[in-house]
Amino acid sequence: MTLILLGAPGAGKGTQAEVISDRYNIPTISTGNIIRAALKNGTEMGLKAKAYIEKGELIHDDVVIGIIKERLAESDCDGGFILDGFPRTIPQAKALDDMGIAIDAALSIEVSDSEIVKRMSGRRVCEKCGASYHMDHRKPAVEGVCDVCKGKLVIRKDDEPETVLNRLKIYHESTEPLKDYYKAQDKLLTVEGQDDVKDTTALVLKALSEI
Ligand code: ADP
Ligand code: ZN
Repeated sequence: MTLILLGAPGAGKGTQAEVISDRYNIPTISTGNIIRAALKNGTEMGLKAKAYIEKGELIHDDVVIGIIKERLAESDCDGGFILDGFPRTIPQAKALDDMGIAIDAALSIEVSDSEIVKRMSGRRVCEKCGASYHMDHRKPAVEGVCDVCKGKLVIRKDDEPETVLNRLKIYHESTEPLKDYYKAQDKLLTVEGQDDVKDTTALVLKALSEI
């Protein structure tokens, strides 16, 4: 299966991606994670991306398209993959079409802006390994400590309230039009994000089982 996950920042794409990955045994390609890893490793691309990420702005299309092209060429993508955080603009979607990769579906997880703002304030990430947590929905065993590597849990700089509002604005302007783009290709699936992550997962798996 080749799947695109759409949805506002904080809609829970990453969490659902993990479940789908396990169920269908396909890798998740998260542009956000790839870019953050580059930033951490101090690569040239990472350094250029830093200011954009911290302000919640989008990285230039050419850069992300290049990242995705390289990543999708790796052999673990041969049997399918999940794209989490790509495409985020119409030019990115067009570039993906131009790569000649057939997409089975674009699944949009719908969550209201007010709910997003509320959720983002509880989001924490491990500063060492990048694992993500939520103070209400996905608590670590020990408060402030990563279950995986015992690293310290921190608020991602771009999860700070002013940045979240900016990211939502950019989402509505640049990314939401992708719903119409994939609808026109008859590939759009929508799922209402639920308060309980497990309930969203059930809806997601049901939608995918029907394609
Ligand atoms: P989210 O929590 O919104 O899903 P991500 O981890 O996917 O956040 O992305 C974090 C940041 O990385 C974005 O705000 C943006 O700066 C950059 N980024 C990730 N994917 C893309 C993309 N497809 N196009 C442009 N910028 C991107
Ligand atoms: Zn960790």
